[in-house]
Amino acid sequence: MHCASCATNIQKTIQKLDGVEKADIHYATEKAKIAYDSNRVSAADFTEALKPLGYTISPSENHDHNQGAKPDELSAMRTQIFVISPIVLFSIAVMTAEILGKYGVIAEMPKSVYDFMHHLMPLFATYMLFVVGKPYLLGLYRFFRYGKANMDTLIGLGTSVAFLYSFFVSALESTIAPYIDVTYSYYDITIVVIGFITLGKYLEMRAKQKTGDAITQLLGLQAKTALVRRNGEEKEIPIQDVIHGDEIIVKPGMRIPVDGVILEGSSFIDESMITGESIPVEKTIGKRVIGGTLNTTGSFVFTAKKVGSETLLAHIIKLVEDAQSSRAPIQALADKISAIFVPIVLVISIISFILWLIFATPAFGLSTAITYAITAFVSVLIIACPCALGLATPTAIIVGVGKGAKAGILIKDAETLEKLHSANTLVLDKTGTITNGKPVLVNQINQSSLSDDELLGVLASLEAKSEHPIAQAILEKAKSIKLSIPTNTDFEIVKGKGLKAKIGEAFFYAGNTAYMHDRGIALDESMIKTETSKGYTPIFLASEKELLGMYFVADTIKPEAQQAIANLQQIGMRMVMLTGDNKHTAEFIAKTAGITEVIAEVLPQDKLAIVKELQESGAVVAMVGDGINDAPALAQADIGIAMSTGSDIAIDTAGITILHGDLSKIVKAIHLSAITMRGIKQNLFWAFIYNVVGIPLAAGLFFPIFGWLLNPIFAGFAMAFSSVSVVGNSLRLKQKKL
Ligand code: ADP
Ligand code: MG
Repeated sequence: MHCASCATNIQKTIQKLDGVEKADIHYATEKAKIAYDSNRVSAADFTEALKPLGYTISPSENHDHNQGAKPDELSAMRTQIFVISPIVLFSIAVMTAEILGKYGVIAEMPKSVYDFMHHLMPLFATYMLFVVGKPYLLGLYRFFRYGKANMDTLIGLGTSVAFLYSFFVSALESTIAPYIDVTYSYYDITIVVIGFITLGKYLEMRAKQKTGDAITQLLGLQAKTALVRRNGEEKEIPIQDVIHGDEIIVKPGMRIPVDGVILEGSSFIDESMITGESIPVEKTIGKRVIGGTLNTTGSFVFTAKKVGSETLLAHIIKLVEDAQSSRAPIQALADKISAIFVPIVLVISIISFILWLIFATPAFGLSTAITYAITAFVSVLIIACPCALGLATPTAIIVGVGKGAKAGILIKDAETLEKLHSANTLVLDKTGTITNGKPVLVNQINQSSLSDDELLGVLASLEAKSEHPIAQAILEKAKSIKLSIPTNTDFEIVKGKGLKAKIGEAFFYAGNTAYMHDRGIALDESMIKTETSKGYTPIFLASEKELLGMYFVADTIKPEAQQAIANLQQIGMRMVMLTGDNKHTAEFIAKTAGITEVIAEVLPQDKLAIVKELQESGAVVAMVGDGINDAPALAQADIGIAMSTGSDIAIDTAGITILHGDLSKIVKAIHLSAITMRGIKQNLFWAFIYNVVGIPLAAGLFFPIFGWLLNPIFAGFAMAFSSVSVVGNSLRLKQKKL
């Protein structure tokens, strides 16, 4: 594809086919996503339908992630640049000498030299038009044959008109000499315009490739081979051949090939590239390891649990790739414009040609009028290419998403990236978002006839089946004192409140204040308040009739929380803490973290309603949660941000996933969104300006006032470098600090 209007043309053609539900064609990555009924239409039909347009479709090879160009395509272009550079430079030199000579700046060329040069020009122009410019001629051919125009058509038409005019003038020299200035030819225009455009294309392709290097880096994390132990034998096999259950040996310094669980040995593993955790983590038997991470000094054997496309790294790569090729809403306008641009430009160029003939002939005579008319015609065609317009949004999105991925901010799609910077209210979950989500048991009050250990055993029995961080605190404690835990039956979770289960013949209930109230169990409120005001979370354990014990767990605030929250407030963000936890506990944590607005004791289903209420009051809400039990609220929010911890990366649930649950990355993500959007707007502005100013200038609209008429060579230059400057501006985003 050469141009955004290519993408639109392809999309329209495919979508028209019977059996195609939806086609999404992405210009910057040159990828198509097509949803179709395979009983009615096939991939071969797509190829067939695209043939007249001059495109071919090929299945996307797995992990061929070069955005835009393949390396050999790029090196072929480089060779071409080497060949044409002397030709283009020579033509420019001759042109310059001629112009300077005319104005007396330098001596005019002797007639013999002049003639010699002017016999070379047609040769060069022929080479440029028919060899280098072949894609543009094909574009022109398709226009006449099928009536389909794209950017190639415009360039093809402009350059071949210049060529043909020059050709006829020199061929019919003696016949037309009395009427037309036969010394004036346009071969140089054909040469230089095609030269510039080819150079621009090459630079654009090279830059486009650089925008996508985040994927290349992620791919670089993938090990090529794995050392497996099958039937007691060690063998190095390609990573694609690893299957579930393979026992994989990891030696010091080796990269872990796939996801799995340690079987023997232990080591410290550097997981920074995946989780963002900078300090190597100790992994012992039974612990999970992530493919793509780096073993430090120990050695171990692990069982492969997830291979191929199931691994976390593969998921991340897919997520980044999908996000990079997704469409930002802001792009819709640019797409609409480029779709109607080409036919409009054709019309404008023809009109300006005719008007020049009509109005300039009486004033300057036919010969000069034709010169002007052709100049305007060619210039309009060349400058009006909507190419930069099509690159403006996607290149910035590719860079933005890639930059995020490198910083541990995984963005699901372009729309999320676009929306984030407009958020003005940040709703934060408490547990696991502001706190570490790893509470410890700090206090226990036994009001039963059982021993402390027996009572804790009852609670641990219930908690053993819960996923809540509170449960971990209790189980951790039980484990540390080697408590024997009774088994239970009829286990049930009461959402947002607690749990119940039967041990022996009796039912036990564990949970929060609301749960005890529901069950009609009286509580000593003042005692609870003293503990909760210290930031402790209470868990009450009760039988059918009475309270048996009170447990208090303390969670710690994340080290970066205070600073991160202060930074967010500084950029004008309204901060709201939302939690199912006790009111006093929540208030203590909020105060320590620096948040004043707290909504506590909220049931999970009500979190969504609160987000909705905020939205109805006009807030643009970004909701931060752990992405597991907050999923509905995350989905309701304008932007859902999931905090992932360790290897539990729930990347599908939210628009943005922050690796390693690092709060300070939220402000970075917002900043990333803002700079990406600024980049897109600059790109769109520059792309538009070239066309908006360029077209009237090229058409000669300013000629009667200022005497300005654009030389087609400058049009070619402007057109080539508008694309290059847009891609360059997107690349600049990479250097910006987050
Ligand atoms: P949050 O994630 O904000 O703590 P939840 O909806 O997950 O919100 O839980 C709300 C409250 O329900 C908890 O603060 C706790 O008091 C109680 N609760 C939930 N699960 C358990 C559990 N496994 N054991 C004891 N209490 C629980
Ligand atoms: Mg929670």
